[in-house]
Amino acid sequence: MSEYFSNIKTSATTIATGMAITLRHFFNAVNRKGDAGIDDADYFKQVDGLCTLQYPREVIPTPVNARYRLYNNIDDCIGCNQCDRACPVECITIETIKVTADDLAVCGKTSGGQQKRMWVPVFDIDVAKCMTCGICVSVCPTECLVHTPVADFSEFDLSNMLYHYGNLSKIEAEAKRKKLELEKAAKEKAAAEAAASGAAPAPKPAPKPAPKPAGNEAGE
Ligand code: SF4
Ligand code: SF4
Repeated sequence: MSEYFSNIKTSATTIATGMAITLRHFFNAVNRKGDAGIDDADYFKQVDGLCTLQYPREVIPTPVNARYRLYNNIDDCIGCNQCDRACPVECITIETIKVTADDLAVCGKTSGGQQKRMWVPVFDIDVAKCMTCGICVSVCPTECLVHTPVADFSEFDLSNMLYHYGNLSKIEAEAKRKKLELEKAAKEKAAAEAAASGAAPAPKPAPKPAPKPAGNEAGE
């Protein structure tokens, strides 16, 4: 019988102790709420207080060097494919079309002054697959591919996780492909006509004789 009451006493003491701890943290959290804001660098170093954020009403600012959602400034993209080749999970898809000679000015230059020689009708990033490793960003020669501070980009529809950055519509891309084919055909025709008319390639200049070393002239 004494053991029975002893167990009841232990249970009551345990519950009271637990409730005391819970209430202490509860009132401590209420008291501390607002003292250390989420902008405080030591927010998560607080021993006491409310550390749980009321997300999405409250969010922690992302660090400046964070690697989150990718963004491609397509105006600076030269369609070199280096990011696509470097991506370990193959979540970048690129299609390019060579720019015809008369379109170079229309295609323009990058902000760094580099002439763009490729249209990029398709530049898709599947951010659902992207593991934000940053390899693609590090190999991009024009620094147009960057990580943004956007950390929350969840979607209900998975297809919305495929981001499109291409700089031509399908109709425009088709027109550019046809234009390139016409340019190629015109070049081939001109080359064939030149060959038929017997135009020989310009003769190579005769190699100059190597100058004699000074020692030979002196009879050494
Ligand atoms: S961050 Fe990594 S996984 Fe994501 S696209 Fe770039 S290379 Fe691929
Ligand atoms: S590496 Fe940079 S410039 Fe080259 S295709 Fe990718 S995003 Fe464009």
